[in-house]
Amino acid sequence: MKKIIQDFTQSELLELIKPSFRAKQIYHWMYHQYASSFDEMKNLPKDLRVKLEEEYTVAPLKQVMVQNSQDGSRKYLYQLHDGHTVEAVLLLMRDKEYHEDGSVKHQERYTVCISSQVGCKVGCAFCLTAKGGFMRNLTAGEIVEQVRLIKKDNNIASNRRVNLVYMGMGEPLDNLKEVVQSVKIFSDEEGMAIATHRQTISTSGLSSKIVKLGKEELGVNLAISLHAVDDELRQTLMPINKAYNIKSIIDAVKDFPVNDRKRVMFEYLVIKDVNDDISAAKKLLSLLDGIKSKVNLIYFNPYGGTEFKRPSETDMKRFQEYLTSRGLHCTIRESKGLDISAACGQLREQELEGEA
Ligand code: SAH
Ligand code: SF4
Repeated sequence: MKKIIQDFTQSELLELIKPSFRAKQIYHWMYHQYASSFDEMKNLPKDLRVKLEEEYTVAPLKQVMVQNSQDGSRKYLYQLHDGHTVEAVLLLMRDKEYHEDGSVKHQERYTVCISSQVGCKVGCAFCLTAKGGFMRNLTAGEIVEQVRLIKKDNNIASNRRVNLVYMGMGEPLDNLKEVVQSVKIFSDEEGMAIATHRQTISTSGLSSKIVKLGKEELGVNLAISLHAVDDELRQTLMPINKAYNIKSIIDAVKDFPVNDRKRVMFEYLVIKDVNDDISAAKKLLSLLDGIKSKVNLIYFNPYGGTEFKRPSETDMKRFQEYLTSRGLHCTIRESKGLDISAACGQLREQELEGEA
């Protein structure tokens, strides 16, 4: 089978492809010109292009579906060489900026949400990705390619600032090696040059792997999917909590190297009548005491067949108000692209059920 060229850092390519300056040229073609074949790489000699084509592929993913949301978000379904499918989402946020005369101009901010596995072993009760079970890890190149294809498809110039969140399908820390490799490839100055402080890795809380990730000193941001503040409830929502309880997660976070200008993000998926009461907010406040953190309250996004419900706006605001009035940074996140089921796993599930 052909090797995936996106699996390699530039310094690895330097060893594999001689003379070594070719690695830089290939990186430019891949991540600045979004080349879809070696043949396009015209400043490489023909015989090298032919040889590369025999050994490597530049197209490990095939787009099989795209859905546009009213808020401008776009959700992609990609097929891997073995037929499995994964999702990635382009999220558009609008930043307010001002012209010199004081009038408002809007600046699009791009965030790409990427998958790290086909399916997920963690098996959270509220998550659609979990329903299909676990198939396999993605390679670094398969992770990298999601962003390259989305930039290409949306004509996003190579030097345009993009943020990455590892919040698509899968548990990134259960595929630590490939995820770390992808972070390095994304941040290469000759490649996509996405600074590591613009990359956020979200985890259901594999404490020992959080420690390991911290030791890599990559400078990435950490997001913890907490969702519950006592072990008993968390265990029913997230079975992984039996192996890694809340205290072990908090301890690991306290040791995690955090960029001076950043905070650790705690994701709290709010489910009606399950975890939306003020006593939970109170406990959350004390859990996060002493941690430079921010909390993201997320509306549960319902799907067919789930017993869980979306909380009311009033309850969300009350929960937030409790925290912010006591000094915690806390935002409410409307699931972006709600009308295209942007919560992870939802597009793929439709495709598998033949609904889409
Ligand atoms: N496995 C990692 C990375 C995936 S992130 C993690 O869990 O952190 C996927 C995010 O989508 C998680 O924060 C999860 O809580 C959220 N999510 C899953 N199902 C959802 C739903 N139905 N509505 C809203 N968010 C959901
Ligand atoms: Fe896996 Fe995250 Fe879904 Fe839990 S929420 S099953 S960890 S993808």
